[in-house]
Amino acid sequence: MQATDRNLALLQRARQLIPGGVNSPVRAFKAVGGTPRFVQRAQGAYFWDANGQRYIDYIGSWGPMILGHGHPAVLEAVQRAALDGFSFGAPTEREIELAEEIVKLLPSIEMLRLVSSGTEAGMSTIRLARGATGRSKIIKFEGCYHGHADALLVKAGSGLATFGHPTSAGVPPEVVQHTLVLEYNNLPQLEAAFAEHGPQVACLMIEPIAGNMNFVRASVPFMRRCRELCTQHGALLAFDEVMTGFRVALGGAQSLYAQHIPGFEPDLTVLGKVIGGGMPLAAFGGKRAIMEQLAPLGAVYQAGTLSGNPVATACGLATLRELQRPGFYQALSARTRSLTAGLAQAAAQAGVPFCTDSEGGMFGFFLLEQLPQNYAAVLRTDSTRFNHFFHAMLERGVYFAPALYEAGFVSAAHSEADVEATVAAARGVWAGG
Ligand code: PLP
Repeated sequence: MQATDRNLALLQRARQLIPGGVNSPVRAFKAVGGTPRFVQRAQGAYFWDANGQRYIDYIGSWGPMILGHGHPAVLEAVQRAALDGFSFGAPTEREIELAEEIVKLLPSIEMLRLVSSGTEAGMSTIRLARGATGRSKIIKFEGCYHGHADALLVKAGSGLATFGHPTSAGVPPEVVQHTLVLEYNNLPQLEAAFAEHGPQVACLMIEPIAGNMNFVRASVPFMRRCRELCTQHGALLAFDEVMTGFRVALGGAQSLYAQHIPGFEPDLTVLGKVIGGGMPLAAFGGKRAIMEQLAPLGAVYQAGTLSGNPVATACGLATLRELQRPGFYQALSARTRSLTAGLAQAAAQAGVPFCTDSEGGMFGFFLLEQLPQNYAAVLRTDSTRFNHFFHAMLERGVYFAPALYEAGFVSAAHSEADVEATVAAARGVWAGG
């Protein structure tokens, strides 16, 4: 640390005006302790903090920056769009182009609406599902995060498979009384929930690869049953691909399940992060008959002053076009696997318990012998060990997510040298050096 730590000085200044000094809680380093880094600028795979220290960035703004920071084609598209105006509150051609691009790449989506955040997209999806089915109940899974809309801020009651309790003050119990919270990957619970509540369930929302409990995949048999039960009971299957969409594969996580389950498709998909390329942009979409229930065509209200913002859509469109270059996901996956394999090997050599998984440019690791299958197992991770590892890596210029419940992200800008430097840093940490 420098004699004058500008990160600390900025934190103290920020705390006077902004609760906790941050505009989203995880940025405060509460889980890991220490001083959050205030970012001054970023380029490619790196960012520099207020002290001028460089970090290899494995967060990428929590997922959006799949091309790395300041990609020339994206930058140019944003600069051009900005010259034409920041926001109009009237439709633009670029919104159609972005919609066309998304519909082309995700065949389950026939129509979509653009919004400004994943929270908005998830919240609107729930309203649409309820409006379209005329039902009230929703099913979600413990450890999955779908944004901070009231009805989704729910944790399971003791014993699970209960209607949940609010996870946040300010959410009245009545607001979450229709939210049923189940254990991820627990087939008997899923069966029991549909047996009891099936005819009242409007939708089942799931993170297909849960990145908000580090990295936990929904098993193929579990996902198959989710699809079958939704179809059987007339409930809508909503995939929250805010994190996985265009991150794990060009066709999202849904394309991976379709490889194992013939004809597999969700009814609704929630998107965010990568589709905005770092700008505030998200979307939700699905089957035409459902989407046509939205205002102004249908009776389900949904709106937004900045929805389909011209600068954000330019950024998203330029990003999506880059992702379609031949070999993009093969190269990204290979780089990510090189990182996780390198870390696993370093851990094995040091005798440190370690397990890891990845898909495309998204990865997770646990200081455990075995990959957890649900949130309760994730909670058994030793946070003291993780926090020590996190800080020791940070000191060596590697920025992993400052909480063990979060996935990590590799971008196309990360080089093999970045990966090697990261693995060497981990070796140093585990050797106690
Ligand atoms: N859904 C998932 C799976 C997410 O990971 C997130 C954010 O991390 C959201 C929804 C909410 O998105 P936003 O932060 O843009 O509101």
